Amino acid sequence: MTLDRSIISQSQTAPSPATDPRFAPEWKAFSFETGHFLLHVPSSHVLDVSAELAAQVRGETSDPVAAAELTRLSAVLPRPPVRTIVPDIRAISLNMAQGCNLRCTYCFAGEGDYGTKGMMSFATATAAIKLLAADKPNFHVVFFGGEPMLNFAVIEQVVAWCETEQPSVTFSMTTNGTLLTADKVAWLRTKKFALNLSYDGKGVHAKQRLNKDKVSNSEALVERKIAAFGDQLAVLREFRLRATVTKEALPILEASLVETLTTKNYKLFVSHHATSERGVEFSSDDVDFLGQVFKRVIDRFLASSDYLRLLKLENIQQAVRQIHRGKTGGMTCGAGINYLTVSVGGSFYLCHRFNEDEGERLGSIDGGLDEEKLAEVATFRSAKQAPCNTCWMREWCAGGCMHEHKSAQGDKFAIDPRFCQLQNLELEQAMRVYTVLLEKAPHLLTSHAK
Ligand code: SF4
Ligand code: SF4
Repeated sequence: MTLDRSIISQSQTAPSPATDPRFAPEWKAFSFETGHFLLHVPSSHVLDVSAELAAQVRGETSDPVAAAELTRLSAVLPRPPVRTIVPDIRAISLNMAQGCNLRCTYCFAGEGDYGTKGMMSFATATAAIKLLAADKPNFHVVFFGGEPMLNFAVIEQVVAWCETEQPSVTFSMTTNGTLLTADKVAWLRTKKFALNLSYDGKGVHAKQRLNKDKVSNSEALVERKIAAFGDQLAVLREFRLRATVTKEALPILEASLVETLTTKNYKLFVSHHATSERGVEFSSDDVDFLGQVFKRVIDRFLASSDYLRLLKLENIQQAVRQIHRGKTGGMTCGAGINYLTVSVGGSFYLCHRFNEDEGERLGSIDGGLDEEKLAEVATFRSAKQAPCNTCWMREWCAGGCMHEHKSAQGDKFAIDPRFCQLQNLELEQAMRVYTVLLEKAPHLLTSHAK
């Protein structure tokens, strides 16, 4: 619980290095329909404050009383130690099939093959798990592709092998859903899988997820699969729909998102797509438009007090959870820190999107991990260099998505401002939802934000 109205009246107890540049900016102000709030950036505490204090933080006023109050608060609030991030791989995705039965317009893997077609063998998959999971009490394997279900027989063998050789391994799969059958769904349940099913939403899916002929699309088929198996998938260890948004889908995105959240009672994560193709990449205006779509969708569910449906939108639910927990020291993702991807031939890369990008190769099942390259990523995440060092989201982000940066700037460590723009729009809305839930439905923070 981070919203601490009482802290305002606490006495000064802790020394405060308020002038330490590592902790600037110290505050971020928000004004919503629920009131005025400050985020204490170093500690992720949220404070319910007066309009005057919020105005002071925004630089709209220069009031000595408000300034003194901020100094006092600053001295009271904790400052978690600066964290040094050390690589410790705890999860891998196995590219079981570098090939796909669809031809999605935005596929970062070309036609699902990453330029190197093939199916992962049982020997490669188990060698990777043996090497990276050895002696680890918990390890997670994601079956990925292309479309991993094209290689389902080997997935079954790998899971069976883990049950005897590496029983601590848990499993998930990311699939386009087209090859789901009753038998496969039953097997996924038995093996306690988590499943991410790619479904972009009505109309958007039809536009983006084409069949092999590149003319017809997979929307009706995937919707039939969700209708047929949704109830059983919903009781898997975890189940979510994953929608990818492209520039072309923006005009119909709002209606599509509302439709999915209203008619499909599953978690939904929306990811926007980075691309290095200049003609279809998101401009700053597109990101702003996307943020406005998110806001209008949130407005709609808040207006009808349909908080449960709103919390199905994982982009918001996950952020609300970290705000509620007062999370510090977070990262956008664990790529190269606690997660990497294994190509069909047994090479390691930062994450699934970097698969077969030779410049980002992190070793292989034969040569082991490239510790030097892993250390570079850890340094990038730990250092929080400009612009992250002065960003109000730095305790939750620490450098953003390296793939988005590389697609946009050619360098995975060169922050793409459009990533930050979108984070800003999303996290501000999450903060707003958090303050509404605190006021209107605090029980949901306990049940959904654990
Ligand atoms: S990547 Fe952008 S949003 Fe993330 S911490 Fe850095 S500046 Fe902030
Ligand atoms: S680097 Fe980007 S694409 Fe890769 S796992 Fe992280 S957030 Fe996802």
